[in-house]
Amino acid sequence: MSTHILPWHQNAWSQLTLMVQSNRLPHALLLTGPSGSGRRQFADAFCGYLICHSDADRPCGHCKQCLLYDSGNHPDVMVLAPEETSKSIKIEQVRRAIQFVAQTANQADATKLIIVQPAEGLGIAAANSLLKSLEEPPGKTLFMLVAEPGASLLPTIRSRCQPLVLDTASDLQAMQWLTDHSSAAPEQLQAALQLAPGRPLQALYLLEQGIPAWRSVLEQNLLALQHGKISPIEIAKSVSTQPAMRAIHCLQEINTHACLALSKENNTEAVKVRLAFQQKLVPVIRQLSGTANPNELLALEYVFAEYSAVLARSG
Ligand SMILES: [Zn+2]
Repeated sequence: MSTHILPWHQNAWSQLTLMVQSNRLPHALLLTGPSGSGRRQFADAFCGYLICHSDADRPCGHCKQCLLYDSGNHPDVMVLAPEETSKSIKIEQVRRAIQFVAQTANQADATKLIIVQPAEGLGIAAANSLLKSLEEPPGKTLFMLVAEPGASLLPTIRSRCQPLVLDTASDLQAMQWLTDHSSAAPEQLQAALQLAPGRPLQALYLLEQGIPAWRSVLEQNLLALQHGKISPIEIAKSVSTQPAMRAIHCLQEINTHACLALSKENNTEAVKVRLAFQQKLVPVIRQLSGTANPNELLALEYVFAEYSAVLARSG
């Protein structure tokens, strides 16, 4: 077993390396796993495995190919990802990838490797232009499409890829990994993992952003709001250290939980009030994600004023 592989990916790794050893590696793989679970690390490690020239445990990390790959400049590897602030992979990028696979590999008999992440980022035109290369790439090529589980991909893309499901971490594995990578207190690690279950890399990111602490302030303030101890304006200010969308996502999640609990109690009136609140968030979200420069604090003040009314009516 390679030490480069996260413990919860060992099964998938064994499947892939077995395919290589028995010459059954397809032209295209669809790796599915939630973001923040280490799926990209897995794809990178598999590229390293295919590139390495060592006979022993691959990737060895010190042969010429490994060193080149680790420097991020290996000529036989290409990553197709949204550029800068864009959310989608553009058709021009796909065209560059098609040219890339048409060229001869740098190393004799080597495989050209293309990571596409996230595969959901391929628009219809970009996806369509990739189809032929996915099906019949010239020479030895491996496309690795990385996507969320259940991502909506064109059926024609999906059918050309061999699927491989990447597991998420167990609670124990996640805690172990996070303990090895963060110096935060165990209760903070737990709080981060509650926000990103099975996804310790995402939990680490949240910790670095101060999210668990911020979230706990939000939850305490919502209780205070319910008891009239804080105003919507005050709570809006207190959470404005993070982007407004983050607070709104938290509120959506909390509201959904409350809806589920209330419907179990058959409290239809309260459920209606909460569903109506969910609807009121839609235009706010649209405004915040628009290109105009939105007033985030004003949006938060409005949202918390509305939520305060929800609390008064539905508890
Ligand atoms: Zn090597």
